[in-house]
Order: sequence, then structure tokens, then C-alpha cells
Amino acid sequence: MKRREIIKFLSAAPLAGGIIGSGLPLQSAFAEEAAAAAGRDLFKELGLKTFINASCVCTRLTASLMPPEVTQAITKGAEEFVLLDDVLDKVGEKIAELCHAEAATVTAGCWSALVQGLAGVMTGMDRKKVMQLPNVDGMKSEVILQKSHANGYHEALKNTGAKLVIVETAAQAEAAINEKTAMLWFLNRELSAGQLNYEQWLALGKKHGVPTMIDIASDAHPVENLWKFNDMGFDLVAISGGKAMRGPQSAGILMGKKALIAAARLSAPPNSGICRGHKVNKEEILAMYVALERHIKMDHEKEWKMWEDRMAVVVNTIKGIKGVKTEVFLPEIANNTPTLHLTWDDAQIKMTGKEFRERLWNGNPGIEVMGGGTMGKSKGGIELSVWQLKPGQDKIVARRLKEELMAASV
Ligand SMILES: *Cc1c(COP(=O)(O)O)cnc(C)c1O
Repeated sequence: MKRREIIKFLSAAPLAGGIIGSGLPLQSAFAEEAAAAAGRDLFKELGLKTFINASCVCTRLTASLMPPEVTQAITKGAEEFVLLDDVLDKVGEKIAELCHAEAATVTAGCWSALVQGLAGVMTGMDRKKVMQLPNVDGMKSEVILQKSHANGYHEALKNTGAKLVIVETAAQAEAAINEKTAMLWFLNRELSAGQLNYEQWLALGKKHGVPTMIDIASDAHPVENLWKFNDMGFDLVAISGGKAMRGPQSAGILMGKKALIAAARLSAPPNSGICRGHKVNKEEILAMYVALERHIKMDHEKEWKMWEDRMAVVVNTIKGIKGVKTEVFLPEIANNTPTLHLTWDDAQIKMTGKEFRERLWNGNPGIEVMGGGTMGKSKGGIELSVWQLKPGQDKIVARRLKEELMAASV
């Protein structure tokens, strides 16, 4: 368009154009480039191995695939400028409403939510303290957690400079609380491994006026988990965006008490502070909101039925093979989806679990599965899930399992 035409176009555009931005699609400025890019296959161009994910929503595997609603939020989100604080405010309000929290913010994953949340607890609204971290002088800086909950992700809390105090019994937990205690941290997936349950943990926090935080990273099933812990009284709840909820992998949510969320945000962009490097772009903030909303609205019974149907395809294809044993189980809390534990009689099938996994990975198409004991308690063999499959991949997985089992049969 010529300049005069643009002016004419703009004056004819609805009044809302002034509020929502130019009203012009960004793509029109780059139409030729966009057309050329449409046919580009980056996976091929870069020689990236793509594979069927019959494993988990693990970070290493790039977690989950975003549904079209979510990727559209990213594409559309890229078309306008907004103020970063504004989009965090507005999306935070919506998330809080959906999850029964006082407030919420989008973080760079669940790990980031743990760091930001604790930073907020330690600094409050004191900007000098925000810039002082990870030097904790003059701040409450001890975080208490149960030994069985110290399974790796708790390390995130140390990013703030806080010291972790590990306890086992209720008496030890009570005795560990002192004037330096900043927070009590709970890892949902290890609920049954710990001696203290939710109620006891919350009661301890309440009695001593210490905030409580729970990590529910990949526990978006059942969907009630999204508000259950806010309702229960945890002061902060942290969850991954790109795991069970299928949002952007580098997004997550921190929700809870209003004052704590406000304080947490002081350490994150656009502010400086220890989470300045945990930037989430506006596209992903919007996409996180859409993914959460979609997850809450979707028909989870239908989804469950789809998982069961896929699992039946896999199990029915291989269960008749001599020496093969199949057991479908449900991980108790995290990754709450039907999971297959496949084992075999070594005398009848000459292949280790590791060899089986390698053959599946190196086959065509490559398939990633888990080692036995990853999600369940019993070890040996392999484990696999079907929730991250694309339609039709259940049949491919079933066929490949059968091929390798038959080839290794004596
Ligand atoms: C994956 C995970 C995290 C980290 O989440 P990200 O979204 O990858 O940052 C934290 N805690 C638990 C229990 C997890 O499973």
C-alpha cells in the first residue's frame, strides 16, 4: 500500500483499531517471505531425528505436542506489541480465576515457578532484597522438606541461596522450624513416600505462620488438581505448562496468595533479579492461558477412553506372543495416564530391556519408550504410555513391539 492508501485504510478501519493496535495483520508486511517459508521442513533441513513418543512428557523428549489452539495463540500473539506486565497481569487474573487462586503468574516452567515463588517469599516487596539474592543476609532463608521429596527438583529452591533442611518424621519437621524458616515445600508426586500428608504439612505451616508451597509439575490429571491445592490452603502452587497440559514447554504457572505472587514477580522480567533470565515471551504467556483453559474445558472422559482404546490396540497385538507378560497400571499421582509394563520370560525371548529400547529407537519410525520402573514400582522389561501419540501411532507402536518380540523369540 502507498502511504496515502494506508492513511485512507486506517481512517476507514473500525475505531477499535486504535485500542487493539494497528489492526493490520503483521503477515501482510512479510507476505512473500511467509509464502516461501511455508514449504520449509526444518526437521529435514537440519537432519533432526523425529520420533514417536510412547514414553513420558520428559524435558529431554521435548515433553508434549501443542494442540492447534495453543500454536494459534503463539502465531497470533506474535502480531502485536503489548506491555509485558500487562499481559502477565491479565493472563494471571484469568488463570487465578480458573484455578481458585488469589493470583497467578506465568513462569518459565515449573522449575522457574519454584525459584520465583521462593524468591518472593524471601524478599517480600523489598526491592533491595530482590537485588541482593542469592545473598540471603537478613532474610529468612531455610526451606524444610521431607527426605523422600528430595528427588532432584528440590534443587531449584537452592537457586535463591536458600538452605534446604531435610526431615523425615513429624517431630523432626516441627523441631526444624525456627526464626530462619522461610517456607515448607511439598512434592506432590512423592505424597505416599513421605511421613507427613497434605493436612499435616499445612497445619505445620499454619501453626508457625510459615508459607507452604506444593510442586504439581506433571499432575494436571485429574483436572481437579488444578484448583485442589489452592482450595486446600497451600500458599503457592507450581505446575509445568508443557507436560500434561500441552502448553509451551518453556512455560509454567505459579499461583497462590496475592502478596506472594506480587513479590515473586519482582524477581522476574521485566524486573531484574534472580529470575531475570527466566523470560517467557508474550506469545507463550498467551499460549499458556489457552492451554490451561483448553485443558479445563476438554472432555476428559473422552480423552481417557481414547487412551484406553490405544492401549488395547497395543496389548492385544502382543499379548499372545509366547513368554510375554503385559500389565497396565496407573501411576498414582504424576503422569496419571494408563501405562504399560511389558516383561518377558528370558528363556523364551532373548533380548534385554535395554536392547529392546535401542531397537525401537533405531527402527523406522523411531519409537521412544521407558525402562521398567520409570513410572511404576516394579523394575525390568520396558514401560510405555500412549497419551502423547498422534492418531494412528498406536498401531505403529503395536506393530514394532510385535516385530522385535517375534525376532527375539527362540
Ligand atoms: C518436570 C518437573 C519440574 C520442572 O518443570 P519444568 O516445567 O520442566 O521446569 C519440577 N518438578 C517436577 C516434579 C517435575 O516433574
